[in-house]
Amino acid sequence: MATDWQSPENLEFLSPEEMRTRLLEAQEFSNRVNTLSELSLKIDAAQSREEIVAILKEDLKRLLQGEAAFLCLLSQNRTHYIVHALSPLMDAIELDHKHFAVDVGMPGWAIENNAAITVDIGSAPSFHPFLEGKLKDLGIASLVIVPVRTTEDIIGVLVFGSSKSSAYGDPDLWLAQLLSLQVAISLRHTGMMEKAQKRLAQIGLVNQIAGKLTTSLDVDELLTAASEAIQRHFNYFDVTIFIVDKEAKEMVLVAHAGNYIDFLPHGYRQKIGQGIVGWVAEHGQPVLANDVTLDPRYMSYQYHNTNSELALPILINNEVVGVLNVEDTKLHAFDETDVLVLETLCDQIGSAMRNAKLFEEIKKSNQRLLELDRLKTDFVGIVSHDFRTPLSTIMLAAKSLLRKEETLKPERLREYLNIIIDQASKLSKLAEDTLSIAKIEAGQLNYQFKIVNVESIIQEAVSMVKISSRHQFRYQVDVNCSYVRGDQNKLRQVLQNLISNAVKYSPAGGTIEVIVGPHDQPDEVLFSVSDQGLGIPKEYMGKLFQKYTRVETGEATKIKGTGLGLWICREIIKAHGGRIWVESEVGNGSVFKFSVKRGN
Ligand code: ADP
Repeated sequence: MATDWQSPENLEFLSPEEMRTRLLEAQEFSNRVNTLSELSLKIDAAQSREEIVAILKEDLKRLLQGEAAFLCLLSQNRTHYIVHALSPLMDAIELDHKHFAVDVGMPGWAIENNAAITVDIGSAPSFHPFLEGKLKDLGIASLVIVPVRTTEDIIGVLVFGSSKSSAYGDPDLWLAQLLSLQVAISLRHTGMMEKAQKRLAQIGLVNQIAGKLTTSLDVDELLTAASEAIQRHFNYFDVTIFIVDKEAKEMVLVAHAGNYIDFLPHGYRQKIGQGIVGWVAEHGQPVLANDVTLDPRYMSYQYHNTNSELALPILINNEVVGVLNVEDTKLHAFDETDVLVLETLCDQIGSAMRNAKLFEEIKKSNQRLLELDRLKTDFVGIVSHDFRTPLSTIMLAAKSLLRKEETLKPERLREYLNIIIDQASKLSKLAEDTLSIAKIEAGQLNYQFKIVNVESIIQEAVSMVKISSRHQFRYQVDVNCSYVRGDQNKLRQVLQNLISNAVKYSPAGGTIEVIVGPHDQPDEVLFSVSDQGLGIPKEYMGKLFQKYTRVETGEATKIKGTGLGLWICREIIKAHGGRIWVESEVGNGSVFKFSVKRGN
């Protein structure tokens, strides 16, 4: 129908036959204009892109003749256009919903040049075998292509094809352009409406999911609930949440919902920096890959048929603690609304995780406080008992002395006096330790540093500990380590505590030995107090010098104590600039060691 459209002035030169043809053509054109206005009204009333396509499919034939018709619409990021078939022929050659790069084929040419064109397919300025090639194979000879554009932007092109060559003329071009204008306005309109509706629905869903996140204070439970809710509400193909294991420089899969669930197990690990997820964990920025084959960061899995991937960081105080990752088998599955919505959700997940972590910390410190409280109560009970026992023994011995003063033999008298001295020294140690605790806690334990003779503090300490007849005691001091720098009383207190522990925790006897010799650090001297007693289980070694820690297994539970002696020792040695530690094996005795500065 290539009408040679002539201006009315020339009509007088036409023969009656030609006049008749022109009139018929004019009438036909006016019919087509009517069809166009009907079509425009319908398109105007459409509510969605699908509806617009359906209307065009139905009525387009009345407007423009030809076997092929299709609409090409640009993708969000304008790198691709997607074909929407408007005629059965396009369906038949399987071009419907196909993606083409924006510089491919005649539609690409028209988009790039923003130009309307009627052309024979063979002489098209841009020819793509999969597009124009297919059309040609099916006998399409000529095309009319018009841009679909609003005042702001080109959003695609409308294409019509005929099996006749040079089938389209100017009137076809004008009608197609008018139609495309109407299509553009309606598409923009419905697009905006759809977007607004989608956003509204998504805001509702975000609120629902966020509500769920606040109900759990357990991190694992919370992330599982989040992944399931996100997958279900937004109908994503697959959703995973990884958390960052900073030490191992890896990410761990902790929650998974969707179609790949059987392929990636809970606990699956991936290196930070590896794949899109790893990149996000490393850089703390979201990645939107709507065609993963074009993204070099994409790491493909055997089972995968992913085409689009969107990964976002989960942050706590600007630090990446996890990654939320969604995938789809469709190309261009995600748009900026998905990014916005998931970013909001990642914020919510981040703060829910922070709350859960804070809660864990509070719970732990609460437990520790409760434990300290229990230990303090025990301590008060033990201390008052420990004070009372020697006191009543002293009282008893003293009363007996008074009563039998005149009749007592000298040996018995000595025995009573020995009991009194022994118990009094126990009391004095207890008083000294109790006082030290209060002073250490108040930061008021004063030290008088001077040069101290090592042998004399060992002897002093031993004289204050009652070594039982079952134990053997010996000590040895290296000649080059006879003097240290420190507070004489405090160092004696440390040795006294360690030696009395050695006696206390070696119920079956054995040798207790104090050895003083050189240390790896040349300016220090090493003390060691060893016994052949109960020994200490591994799990207690790290916390033995903490306040109130007592071994609560085996034989040790039968022996009374406060769990404060070693803590006092550590505080004193710390104030001397030294270190205290223990080497031990259950059943094979213990060696307590500490270092202090040399005095010579
Ligand atoms: P206490 O002996 O009053 O309980 P300490 O702080 O002196 O408190 O010691 C803490 C814990 O370390 C003890 O309860 C005991 O279980 C363990 N312990 C200390 N010295 C020894 C030792 N020589 N052999 C075995 N266990 C020991």
